[in-house]
Amino acid sequence: MSDTPMSKSRRDAVKMMLGTAVAIPVINLIGVGSVRAADAPANAVAADDPTAVALKYSADATKADRAGAARPGAAPADQHCANCQFMQADQGSGDWKGCSLFPGKLINVNGWCSSWTLKAG
Ligand code: SF4
Repeated sequence: MSDTPMSKSRRDAVKMMLGTAVAIPVINLIGVGSVRAADAPANAVAADDPTAVALKYSADATKADRAGAARPGAAPADQHCANCQFMQADQGSGDWKGCSLFPGKLINVNGWCSSWTLKAG
């Protein structure tokens, strides 16, 4: 088999296609990982957690429908897990804390769900 410029070009094209075929799954893995916040612990409440879906939980309160839920106690923009009575500050660390509505899991202090209730005192 001769190695003409044409066959080298074809070989390069095949290499490029194989490289693309390998790169796509790697990009997909990176994409899946980005669904969860970069610093989220393994037991963080996932976006597709059934309770999270039912309660419209978001780890980022600015992306949640706080105004639509019309929870009393504070203006929608001021409602977040950190000032909710259900947050359990003694669990987790950093921005990730416990919540009595999500036993064994961690919510983000900057998150929100439709059960938000102003912390007393
Ligand atoms: S109940 Fe409160 S602390 Fe728990 S996820 Fe909802 S807003 Fe956050």
